Amino acid sequence: MTITPLMPVYPRCDVRPVRGEGCYLIGERGERYLDFASGIAVNALGHGHPHLTKAIQEQAATLMHVSNMYGSPQGEKLAKRIVDHCFADTVFFTNSGAEAVECAIKTARRYHYADGNPQKHTLITFNSAFHGRTLGAISATNQPKMRDGFEPLLPGFAYAPFNDLDAALALVDENTAGFLVEPVQGEGGIRPATQEFLKGLRKAADEKGLLLVLDEVQCGYGRTGTWFAHEQYGITPDILASAKGIGGGFPLGACLATEEAAKGMVFGTHGSTYGGNPLAMAAGEAILDVMFEDGFLDRVKTMGERLRSGLEQMIPNHDQLFDSVRGMGLMLGLKLKEPAVSRDFVAHCRDNHGLLLVAAGDNVVRMLPPLVIEEDHISECIEKLSEAARVYTPPADD
Ligand SMILES: *Cc1c(COP(=O)(O)O)cnc(C)c1O
Repeated sequence: MTITPLMPVYPRCDVRPVRGEGCYLIGERGERYLDFASGIAVNALGHGHPHLTKAIQEQAATLMHVSNMYGSPQGEKLAKRIVDHCFADTVFFTNSGAEAVECAIKTARRYHYADGNPQKHTLITFNSAFHGRTLGAISATNQPKMRDGFEPLLPGFAYAPFNDLDAALALVDENTAGFLVEPVQGEGGIRPATQEFLKGLRKAADEKGLLLVLDEVQCGYGRTGTWFAHEQYGITPDILASAKGIGGGFPLGACLATEEAAKGMVFGTHGSTYGGNPLAMAAGEAILDVMFEDGFLDRVKTMGERLRSGLEQMIPNHDQLFDSVRGMGLMLGLKLKEPAVSRDFVAHCRDNHGLLLVAAGDNVVRMLPPLVIEEDHISECIEKLSEAARVYTPPADD
């Protein structure tokens, strides 16, 4: 037998974290890493945040899980708090981002079904999109590395180049249900949508009776300096998928929708055994307690600007390696120049400089620090990056 007990689907690196302290991870041998990956935009409050840990501990001892057959005072409270602060009128809680996207897809299809237009089932999505790994979510991207070998996939998706409004509109036909888009593509390489693009999709949706579905699993929940990224575009969606930061490390996701968009989601149309259980709701409440404190989101913006300007100042010193910075808030991407390869440079930073980053598409290195970083962490990151860049040799071309 050569297969490992843990199904070998992840190319796991040698970092084996056993403890977390704020913005640091500690490995099995006691080594420390500055964590600018945050479990891929999940640990919004860093590791071991006292308010989040306490909330989870107390709720675990009080009531961890009950079925969705019963009334949910915990779910009602968190859902109310969420809808009171955004475009949505209703929330379905899930355990992950992919499930939030699944619920968004189902909600969109069901909307047109309820309207007497069941043929309107196709969502227009975008090149380099990432929506998760369920069959529905991989059907919503045209990236072969996610899809190969899993066909036949779910019909009802069409793909346009990201940030190309005309191309998206050209795909609209009598079967179109709406658009599914990340306001800032994460996995695809930290690519923010342009204002014209998101505004144009909103306008087209309004004019043609289509739905605008945003995937804010990565860019939402404070990551870009506003609670949701779409706030910076002056538009609102009809449906939104959230996850990652929403639980701060506890598995939680949510599908948010307006009353109109959710009109097909009646009794019996959807469900989840764990979704929105009391323990998850306690984590979700604790995150919002902190995120809605005065100044929290402004601070994310400020720290994002500091990190960005630190990176911009560093680039000219290593301009054989670094091309440019892009992104919003604390969702930043550092584009590398060939022959450097982002995956290889991320490994170098991790193994030789104790700095955790995430590789993304388009030869970009992702920086997704905890939203609670301080100035010192930014300086430490820039120092480590500069030192890493100084001694880095790109892999030989073959
Ligand atoms: C991570 C991610 C997902 C999938 O979330 P999971 O919790 O891994 O299922 C979906 N969409 C985007 C934009 C993501 O970044």
